[in-house]
Amino acid sequence: MNSILKPFASFLVLSFIFFGCSSSEDEGGESPTSPSVTIPLDVYKKVYGTTSEITIQGGYVYINTNGVPDHKSPYFKDTKWHDAKYEAYDASNPNIFHTGDFHLNPNRISELSISFKIPNSPSKASTSKPTSMGPIGVSLNGVPFYNQYAGMNEPLTREINSFDNYNGHPAPLSPGGENGSGGRYHYHMEPFWLTKNAGKDALLGFLLDGFPVYGPEEEGKAISSSDLDSYHGHTHSNKEFPNGIYHYHTTADTPYINGNGYYGSPGTVSQ
Ligand SMILES: [Zn+2]
Ligand SMILES: [Zn+2]
Repeated sequence: MNSILKPFASFLVLSFIFFGCSSSEDEGGESPTSPSVTIPLDVYKKVYGTTSEITIQGGYVYINTNGVPDHKSPYFKDTKWHDAKYEAYDASNPNIFHTGDFHLNPNRISELSISFKIPNSPSKASTSKPTSMGPIGVSLNGVPFYNQYAGMNEPLTREINSFDNYNGHPAPLSPGGENGSGGRYHYHMEPFWLTKNAGKDALLGFLLDGFPVYGPEEEGKAISSSDLDSYHGHTHSNKEFPNGIYHYHTTADTPYINGNGYYGSPGTVSQ
C-alpha cells in the first residue's frame, strides 16, 4: 500500500469499527425477534367463515364460527348438507401415499358454536405454554386448527389416512382421543382449500396466542420446519405486516403448523 492511501485506509477501518458498534447498539435496544404488534381489524376480517361480526375489545379480538367448512368433503355424507356439499375422496391428497389407504372415519361434520378470544397485541410469552388437544387457532373459513397430535403426544400417523381432499377431517364422536366434541371438522396441516384460493404464501388464520399463520411458501420458495424455530415460526415483514411480525408457517413436514407450544400467551376458545 502506498503512503498516500494509508491514512485513507485507516479512516475506513475506524469508520467501520465506529458504525459497526453503533448499529449493534441499536439492535440491543429492542429484541428484533419479538416485536409486539397490534393487529388491525382489517387483517382479522380476512377470516370470512364467521357467524357474527369480528370485534376487538379490551385487548382481545373475538371471532365466532360454526366450524363447518365452506368446501366440499366426503364427511358431509348423509348429513343435512349432503346434496350440496358431499364429494367422494378424489385421491388428490399427497399426504395419503396410496389412494387405497384413504379411509372415511365414522364421524360426520356437524355445526358447532366456537368462540375464539385472542390477544390483539401478541407478544412473546416469558414461558411458553404447550398447545392442548382441540382447537389451537382459527383459519380463514372458520375451521379450527389442531396440533400435530392424535392424542396425548401420539403422532398423527394413522389419522392422516382419514384426511379428505382438503386435508381436514371431523373429530371422533366418542370422548377421548382428540378430546373432540363430536363432528368438529379441523385441520392438523395445510388447509388445501385456503392455499388453493388465496395462494401458498397467504395468511391462513391465527393461533390462539394471536400470531398469524401463513402457508408453506414464501417468495416462491417452499418453507420446511428447518427454516423455522422450535415453535414453528419466525419474524419478518410481509404483505399484511410491513413492519414485521412473528408468524407461523404450515409445512409439509411434521409438526405441520405448531411446534413446541405457543410463542405468545394463548387466549381462550369456548364451544
Ligand atoms: Zn384430527
Ligand atoms: Zn415467514
